[in-house]
Amino acid sequence: MQTNQDLNAKKCIFHSTKKSCLETVKSFLQKIHHKKDLNIFLEVFEKESLLRAQKIDQKIKNKSEGRLAGCVIAIKDNICYQGHTTTAASKILDNFESLYSATVVERLIKEDAIIIGRLNCDEFAMGSTNENSVYGPTKNPLNPLNVPGGSSGGSAASVSADLCHLAIGSDTGGSVRQPAAFCGVTGFKPTYGMVSRHGLIAYASSFDQIGPLSKCINTIDLFMQIVSGSDAFDTTCIFKQGYFQKKSSHNINFKVQKQSVLVIENTLNHKFISKEVRDLFLKFLKKIEDDGHIIKYINLPLLDYLVPAYYILSTAEASSNLARYDGIKYGFRSNSQSWENVIKDSRSKGFGNEVKRRILLGSFVLSEGYYSNYYTKAQRVRRLIKEETTNLLNENNFILTPTSPMLPFKIGVKKKDPTEMYLQDVFTVQANLTGNPSISIPIKPGFPIGAQFLGKFGRDAEIISFANYIKKI
Ligand code: GLN
Repeated sequence: MQTNQDLNAKKCIFHSTKKSCLETVKSFLQKIHHKKDLNIFLEVFEKESLLRAQKIDQKIKNKSEGRLAGCVIAIKDNICYQGHTTTAASKILDNFESLYSATVVERLIKEDAIIIGRLNCDEFAMGSTNENSVYGPTKNPLNPLNVPGGSSGGSAASVSADLCHLAIGSDTGGSVRQPAAFCGVTGFKPTYGMVSRHGLIAYASSFDQIGPLSKCINTIDLFMQIVSGSDAFDTTCIFKQGYFQKKSSHNINFKVQKQSVLVIENTLNHKFISKEVRDLFLKFLKKIEDDGHIIKYINLPLLDYLVPAYYILSTAEASSNLARYDGIKYGFRSNSQSWENVIKDSRSKGFGNEVKRRILLGSFVLSEGYYSNYYTKAQRVRRLIKEETTNLLNENNFILTPTSPMLPFKIGVKKKDPTEMYLQDVFTVQANLTGNPSISIPIKPGFPIGAQFLGKFGRDAEIISFANYIKKI
């Protein structure tokens, strides 16, 4: 008997064609080649994916294929894939080859996904534009003069340019959702602890989550069914396998009852919000209301403290996580005389400016004398926003804001001002500070403005279902 989940799988983007896996892979490879100028892929696994496609076609003939047979996936360059180079777009991991695969990658392969290549991103996932990559910026497929967002800029661009069915990114402060919005696709950040971080190169461990980007929410749902759930290699991954499916009390295409959606009003009056984003977002709200849902408004005074708290805590964690790159164990090594100089030079030459800035900032906020002024205070803000978010979601189903206050801007224009760059994250960091799931969907097809829903902790299936429903209206 077919279950609802099987039926949903049939609605995935990769089931919509009658092509063989081999034909599908060939056509993606061709498109990747044509779009080379956008600098989306750092490496294409051409031979390997063709071979795998043939094998999977055979499995389909024998009716022994996995649930992702025919699904072509690209991965961000900070996710390990055994026997393949992984550099986090940094010189310091130059030529580093992964000794094992991330749990997410393993689970996808087991279900016969085809991994087609490795995607550009900001160095160590630090950035909002993909300009911090040692391989140069990725261009936005919707307008190649513009940034694609970041740090998972390559992931969003690959989906937007139709170079794969689904891409994997990582989201520490908005890096899946903001580029998804800028490139006109859907991006999902799971609840913290829903998806294993094993094999994800750490930036800020208490914030990082791996998340999918696609044009098809059913494919995102299927991805989550397959990769979510506990993993012996990541003790923070606390949700049992199968929990995601179980919590989806309804089919993903359920007929939604009236939902209570809370809009954070001060995001709409925010000094950085552009007129285009505001106007389109208001129209979007009207549509939701016309569909019978209840829209409520609230002011969140904590909003202005979220970006500072995020940058204090995430840089503190980054300064500790990145201490392991010493030029000795892996990656780039400068050939200096003494061991101290090897470490110093390797780190000085291996890390880019933004990464160095964050290591310095993180070391500063953790240093004696400043710790209680910065780190402790930021932790308090984190606790407050967690409590406030839980309370708001006890009375409402979802919190809704625009994903980013701005439209994508030209490559190069904001690069010199890190503070302005950090303020890009003003609407996305809440979900990472609290751990709640959050999704960005395009407000208008092919348009670089996203609406972001934040849902209840652990109720990932619910938010995906609702986003799917909303996308249709
Ligand atoms: N733009 C944010 C930053 O630079 C988010 C990064 C992320 O989510 N990886 O930290």
